[in-house]
Amino acid sequence: MSNISENLKIIKENIKQAATKSGRKPEDIKLLAVSKTIAPEIIQQAIDLGLTELGENKVQEIMSKYELLPEAKWHLIGHLQTNKVKYIVDKVEMIHSVDSLKLATEISKRASAINKPMNVLIEINIGNEESKHGVPIEEAEALAVEISRLDNINVKGLMTVAPFVENPEDNRDYFKQMYKLFIDIQSKNYNNISMEFLSMGMTNDYEVAIEEGANIIRVGTGLFGKRNYNI
Ligand SMILES: *Cc1c(COP(=O)(O)O)cnc(C)c1O
Repeated sequence: MSNISENLKIIKENIKQAATKSGRKPEDIKLLAVSKTIAPEIIQQAIDLGLTELGENKVQEIMSKYELLPEAKWHLIGHLQTNKVKYIVDKVEMIHSVDSLKLATEISKRASAINKPMNVLIEINIGNEESKHGVPIEEAEALAVEISRLDNINVKGLMTVAPFVENPEDNRDYFKQMYKLFIDIQSKNYNNISMEFLSMGMTNDYEVAIEEGANIIRVGTGLFGKRNYNI
């Protein structure tokens, strides 16, 4: 066994400490193993360690790994083009990257066609970075409400990819803003919006994200090691 199991031990310990700091139980934090660029036989090792929930950022990659890893529960965490929705509605547990009504409408249509309600998160571009997808935080609630009126699509929470920073403390305020909105929307009890999941925090900053309220963290490098994009 590679060092995935060692890495997992460290991550679990860190989750425990950060969850305790924010008055929550470690079991309440879901660790999504981000398996982009990782070969199926390596991913299988993570699955064998109990990491069945996997995050991928490309539709094509989910499609090519899907048959090979039948125990996996896939989450799409990367940008989704409307014309690719049809390939994955039947394959994923949740889409974390919904940032337009157009995309949500297509998801609703395709989910209705196979009678499978799709769980989605609204992606927020918390740092207002040009290179990133997601809606500005000011527009997230209105978008969630519009999407909630569509059939067979359930708004389950919020997601963000925070800026890349050397010091994770630099993202703390962004995570606070996300949590505040998460709680605000939750308290309004909109029909068909449940605000169950706050997906934020990656290898570099997941501890701070948990301290500020994340309950899904998406960890790739910290688990599988550095990615090789050339394979
Ligand atoms: C790659 C990726 C991650 C994981 O990043 P690491 O820094 O390797 O943990 C998390 N979220 C998204 C959306 C990603 O594309």
